[in-house]
Amino acid sequence: MHPADAALQQSFPSVMVPRFGALATMERPGERLLIAANGVFLEIVRPWLRVVRRLGAFQYRTAIPYGEVAEATELRCSRVPADLIGEFAAMARATHPKETGAWIVWNAATAAFRLVPVQILEHSGGHLKYDRPSLRTGEVLVVDCHSHGCHPAGFSRTDNADDQHDVKFAFVMGNCQAAVPSLALRLCAKGIFENVEKVPAEWYEAAREEVLA
Ligand SMILES: [Zn+2]
Repeated sequence: MHPADAALQQSFPSVMVPRFGALATMERPGERLLIAANGVFLEIVRPWLRVVRRLGAFQYRTAIPYGEVAEATELRCSRVPADLIGEFAAMARATHPKETGAWIVWNAATAAFRLVPVQILEHSGGHLKYDRPSLRTGEVLVVDCHSHGCHPAGFSRTDNADDQHDVKFAFVMGNCQAAVPSLALRLCAKGIFENVEKVPAEWYEAAREEVLA
């Protein structure tokens, strides 16, 4: 086999899902393809997340002597602290009408979250170009936050292109001038985008402008 193919296949293997026994769990972060009786699935493991999604069903009914797989979403970190959403909201308000960005990262060893501003290369009221921030040992990206200045929250075509290869939650705060900004959240898993229909209420509470009495 070509050494490049050997390396690729080792980094992203295909697994025949057992019909009688249990599927061996992934021991370290990575991706694999699960060939099951009910379709082909992508399994992604990160220190904070395990996600299984069906990429496709089979076009014809034919006997495939493998087991079945169910889609799964397992969050291995605790809830993202709403304080960090509040911290980001303050940043977004201060930068408005320009866009800004930050990462909420998680450390598996300490279970601690923190907000890390991205290194902005260029930003305006309609776009943001940034370098990924440098993280400490053991830290991984969980929520990629950016703001939309005075525009509403949502995911643009540029956001789709930016999020294509990542495994993360993407979070957008829009209408940054408003006391209650608009918020949008989605799970990004290597090109699979799933909108979270209900952004947690405590995130709205945290992003609300604090009016000093
Ligand atoms: Zn955007």
